[in-house]
Amino acid sequence: MTIVRFAPSPTGRIHIGNARTAILNWLFAQKTGGQFILRYDDTDTARSTEEYAKGIATDLAWLGIEPGRVEWQSKRFGRYDAVADGLRAAGFLYPCYETADELDRRRKRQQARGLPPVYDRAALKLSEDDRKALEAQGRKPHWRFRLAQKTVEWNDLIRGPVHIDTANLSDPVLIREDGTYLYTLPSVIDDVDFGVTHVIRGEDHVVNTAVQIEITAALGGRVPDYAHHSLLTGADGKGLSKRLGSLSIGQMREDGFEAMAVVSHAALLGTSDNIHPCTDYKELVEGFDLHKLSRAPARFDEAELGALNAKLLHMTPYSAVAGRLPGQSEEFWLAVRGNIVKLADVSEWARVVAGPVVPVIAAEDRDFLAQAKSALPPAPWDGSTWKSWTEAVKAATGRKGKPLFMPLRLALTGLDHGPELAALLPLIGRDRALERLSS
Ligand code: GLU
Repeated sequence: MTIVRFAPSPTGRIHIGNARTAILNWLFAQKTGGQFILRYDDTDTARSTEEYAKGIATDLAWLGIEPGRVEWQSKRFGRYDAVADGLRAAGFLYPCYETADELDRRRKRQQARGLPPVYDRAALKLSEDDRKALEAQGRKPHWRFRLAQKTVEWNDLIRGPVHIDTANLSDPVLIREDGTYLYTLPSVIDDVDFGVTHVIRGEDHVVNTAVQIEITAALGGRVPDYAHHSLLTGADGKGLSKRLGSLSIGQMREDGFEAMAVVSHAALLGTSDNIHPCTDYKELVEGFDLHKLSRAPARFDEAELGALNAKLLHMTPYSAVAGRLPGQSEEFWLAVRGNIVKLADVSEWARVVAGPVVPVIAAEDRDFLAQAKSALPPAPWDGSTWKSWTEAVKAATGRKGKPLFMPLRLALTGLDHGPELAALLPLIGRDRALERLSS
């Protein structure tokens, strides 16, 4: 069985980029009949909040993602401590006493000499007495993982073969001097403990993966398959992280976007498939394949999302939206769905149907409209009424094309654009039509 995880830090709400990672994991789990774990990476207890965690759960639910398991790293510190002790005993974790300032100065010296700013492992040379002396000064150790300094290879399911020489990396700090964990170790322990088979995440983690593969091996765990997708940029080609406001999933929901428009966009962006609206996950799951994802950054354009939202609504059946359209009939929905971008836009067409409408009537059309009014067919009206009426008006007035139709539209709706009048006219009804034509 495949097991994937989406691992947000509850230090903020998720944006379209994070949601894309979640959706790709969800599609993979659905496609392979596997499990989707929601893991809150909340080791940073000062910045993580319950509020943000709830918000993330709400956002995922809105996107149609139902985690099969939910985990909190903050509840697993005991486990992490036990594993860390084992790594210390095995010599994989070693104590370091440098302050941030000292490390910074050292890096600057290395750079000045044209050397890569890699940690020099000075702490490995400390004797037991050196360490005691440092601790007597009140210094507390932070703990680094001793990398194997060899080439780590994996066959990335999106990027293909990747080789990273960990000799070019600093031994990563896994535990801070106050005993708190950085992201890396808890993440690896959880991936091993929860049996994660596939790690699907952004390419900003590619280098972490080399380190994590080494730590997994040190733990004797099974190394999962990795798939690193490219990151989203804005329409301007720049990264998204700086301007989260309008790109947060919560904001998109508030702005009236359809969840499946956001899902379709996020799922198909940067793939070899055309971006098109899907009304549910079924088609997306069927067409899903990690190999379709491009390595190039994918551009997220809000205008494109708007267009997709409109297309999705245009094909949405009444049954799917009836609950969100109180008091509106199927005829109304079918008449107006082609003329909205967001669902809330129906209110404008509801007003055009039920009024108030300020008819727009040009002086030179008064006689024409009077003739049109007397040609109005008797009730009941249906979808053929518009045709029979306009044919009668054409015969009576000799007008055709735009000079025939536009004055009728302007008088009946007050607007020069809108849904097909054939569909709208029966909804407006004879009484209101009479009133608007005589105004
Ligand atoms: N909390 C990490 C992040 O949001 C998770 C990365 C991962 O998937 O391992 O970047």
